[in-house]
Amino acid sequence: MEIWKNTVESLVRGIRDKSWSPRDILEAFYKHAWAADSRILAFIRMPKLSEISIPDALDSLPLPFAVKDNIMVEGFQTTCGSYALWNYKAGYDATAIARLKASGAVFFGKTNMDEFAMGSSTKYSAFFTTKNPWDYYRIPGGSSGGSAAAVAAGCVPFALGSDTGGSNRLPAAHCGIVGYKPSYGLVSRYGLVSLASSLDQIGPLCRSVRDAACIGNILIGKDEKDATTVDRPMDLLKGIENSIAGKRCAVVRQSVPETIDPHVRRAFWEAVEIFKQNRCVVEEIDFPEERYAIATYHILVPSEASSNLARFDGVRYGFRIPEESLTDMMAESRQYGFGEEVKRRMLLGAFYLGEAQYDSHYQKAMKVRRLISQRVHQIFQDYDVLLSPTSLFSPFRITENTDPLAFYLSDKNTVLANLVGLPALSIPMGFANGMPCGLHLQCKPFADEMLFNIARAYEKSAGFFEDDHYPFPFQEERLWL
Ligand code: GLN
Repeated sequence: MEIWKNTVESLVRGIRDKSWSPRDILEAFYKHAWAADSRILAFIRMPKLSEISIPDALDSLPLPFAVKDNIMVEGFQTTCGSYALWNYKAGYDATAIARLKASGAVFFGKTNMDEFAMGSSTKYSAFFTTKNPWDYYRIPGGSSGGSAAAVAAGCVPFALGSDTGGSNRLPAAHCGIVGYKPSYGLVSRYGLVSLASSLDQIGPLCRSVRDAACIGNILIGKDEKDATTVDRPMDLLKGIENSIAGKRCAVVRQSVPETIDPHVRRAFWEAVEIFKQNRCVVEEIDFPEERYAIATYHILVPSEASSNLARFDGVRYGFRIPEESLTDMMAESRQYGFGEEVKRRMLLGAFYLGEAQYDSHYQKAMKVRRLISQRVHQIFQDYDVLLSPTSLFSPFRITENTDPLAFYLSDKNTVLANLVGLPALSIPMGFANGMPCGLHLQCKPFADEMLFNIARAYEKSAGFFEDDHYPFPFQEERLWL
């Protein structure tokens, strides 16, 4: 089997057994990544082979990885998929990157994303749209679409993304891989360009649950540079293979609505059967407040984003249109630097935070967030895990959807985890309409170990992914067509 088809775990095993060296691995991925990327356009920038230093076989993780372009890697551009930062070079490593580098991992390129992580498709990237490796005419999901497509296509064994409302999980579902959003506070966001600071988390995209646990273990930890991180040491691989008999699973009726694609619905109920075969208790429950989650999210995110993005004024970072007066320079740099969706959200955010609307919009959304959170905590007194489809639909065709509202609804099932700070995973649950679809699992805050245990048990029984036999979307002959 080609080296690039291996998972993180089997690559590391191969190095230990001396089946291959870190150099063999890097060269194999490098060659494959260039070929595959010419089809899917996942990368904004890949370093040259000469820029890559070969790690030591004794390092714990001497493997290549890709990074969403809103996470800082020293010396490389961090564009956030925007013209506003097209020439901005990061001066330092994000904590997540520093931790990976310390384990020997090798930075292998910056991946495409929706501008400033606002979107669900990568269509809102200022540069180009990434293609879904399973069907080049479809979106990979977003906003970490470049990272997900790169992993699914075998360009890298794992990648980093950021998740504010589902940006790791939705593209993972659309590309048939695993996307992890850690509990809020578990992974440092130092060096991540913020979208909405009360919701953002960095997490890995991988091809197996065990791989996501391995990378998660490296990322997790308190960081004094991010005051929101907590000191909760955990080992995601501990007990990952345990039996899940007796676990209590809840299916929120509202997360499998009438409007769901029937093929996704069927795949989901088949997945639920597998939990029952594993002797879990599965119950359907009502959670009427869930219907407010997406509206709450779309008031809080623009509000936080409009304040976070105020710093990109043409003075300190990136793109600038030179003008005589300072105000003209700022206004024009922002007008031409930012894309349509970013401007839409900044205007909405400024509106929600305005004196006249603050109470009726922002404050109200905060109250609803509290209400939703209380209800979720109640649910977790009775249940261990919430199950739902990650997305209600298969990925859109690239040309099909131009309506921002339809994209906002793609996050229907994923925003809850961010609003409440829950750990969540999207893992492959088979196919619908010829495209991969994802199963979404959420546990209570800081129950990440249990989340991985449950996800792994499903992955093993579903047999969709078996050890090193990842069902790669394209065969070599298709790639070269
Ligand atoms: N699609 C969501 C949005 O548009 C999620 C973004 C994210 O998680 N970064 O806001």
